[in-house]
Amino acid sequence: MNLLEYAAKELLVKEGIPVAQYGVAETPEAAFDIACKLAKRPLVVKAQIAAGGRGKGRFLNGLEGGVKICQSPEEVKQIAQRMIGSILVTAQTGEQGQLVKKVLVSESIDISSEIYLSISYSHSTASLLLMGSRAGGVEIEKIAVENPQAIVKKFVLPDYSLWDFQAREFGLDLGFRGKELVELSRILKSLYKTFVKHDASLCEINPLAMDRERKFWALDAKITIDDNALFRQKELLAYRYETIYDPQESEAIRSGVNYVGLDGQIGCMVNGAGLAMATMDILDRFGGRPANFLDVGGGADQSQVENAFRILLSNRNLRVILINIFGGIMRCDLIAEAIVEATKTHRPSIPLVIRLEGTRVKEGKIILENSSLEYLFADDLEDAARKAVQFLKK
Ligand code: GDP
Ligand code: MG
Repeated sequence: MNLLEYAAKELLVKEGIPVAQYGVAETPEAAFDIACKLAKRPLVVKAQIAAGGRGKGRFLNGLEGGVKICQSPEEVKQIAQRMIGSILVTAQTGEQGQLVKKVLVSESIDISSEIYLSISYSHSTASLLLMGSRAGGVEIEKIAVENPQAIVKKFVLPDYSLWDFQAREFGLDLGFRGKELVELSRILKSLYKTFVKHDASLCEINPLAMDRERKFWALDAKITIDDNALFRQKELLAYRYETIYDPQESEAIRSGVNYVGLDGQIGCMVNGAGLAMATMDILDRFGGRPANFLDVGGGADQSQVENAFRILLSNRNLRVILINIFGGIMRCDLIAEAIVEATKTHRPSIPLVIRLEGTRVKEGKIILENSSLEYLFADDLEDAARKAVQFLKK
């Protein structure tokens, strides 16, 4: 899951990384109150969405930029008024943009230069990757393509903390010396600690700004937490739904179903991620587009199947549902019973194609046949895909 900037900054502040005083507001009035309490001028108002490129973004209501410098609390209030409840489109959001529900109001920093700093996984080397650049700011992706030598990279073995010498070597490679080198090393070590402590897969500060007194400030922060570690990151659970905009996806997380919304019309309910991927592929081959990826899990029970139906049926774009279950560990008779029971409360008004295979499939088929459920049975994956796609053509 991605943390919004304000939440990421909370984690940085806890590790002693310098962040300008700020508050977060959901209404223009609250933004005004925060601005009144902040001592320094100017101020900056920043739209909180789960995507970068806000500085160069544009609101659908015409406002230019999701990062605005303001001179007074009144101006902060006016800008917050135009941002909250509006949709911001940036290079990273897609054309549909993202709805702004919160703004961050902060003291502004007088920037003399901008540095890029990040820690992420390097899967190919089974290590962590430190990246930094003196050419940080808004277009680091462009620098990576046009001027890759301006980016310093260092691979380090995953460990509880970064050694002093590793942090200093990195700072030296970036061209820092003296007091600045000491401070940059300290920030890097703190960032590393944040990464490990919160099971992050990415911790990025862009920009880490240097002000006129040559002091460092984390002006923007992006932190991605590994979802599989959320069971031990309980204090971060409060941010779980903040960056999920699809109602079906947030419902799926609540019910423990693996779901990703897509733009097709065939609702898929499959057990196992590999089979779910294969199902989507074969639908595509027969000219159908899946409405979702949905893995009910290897050992789905009735409540999982019920949750899955509820989530699928809340998608108004569906024209047909395809259930594809392979009973390995799972028994086909139990899953058939679960389908029959679940459809009593969540009765689909669209065609249903069912493919069952594996352990106790005969018994499963009998249960389906003896029920009042209307469905079309498919013998294998190909047959299932063909049948589902046929309904689209009708
Ligand atoms: P992003 O565009 O989503 O990455 O948002 P950032 O928070 O990185 O802001 C984009 C740019 O706005 C930064 O690179 C800075 O140049 C500028 N910016 C952000 N915060 C401040 C601030 O406090 N003061 C000033 N002067 N500029 C800022
Ligand atoms: Mg940024």
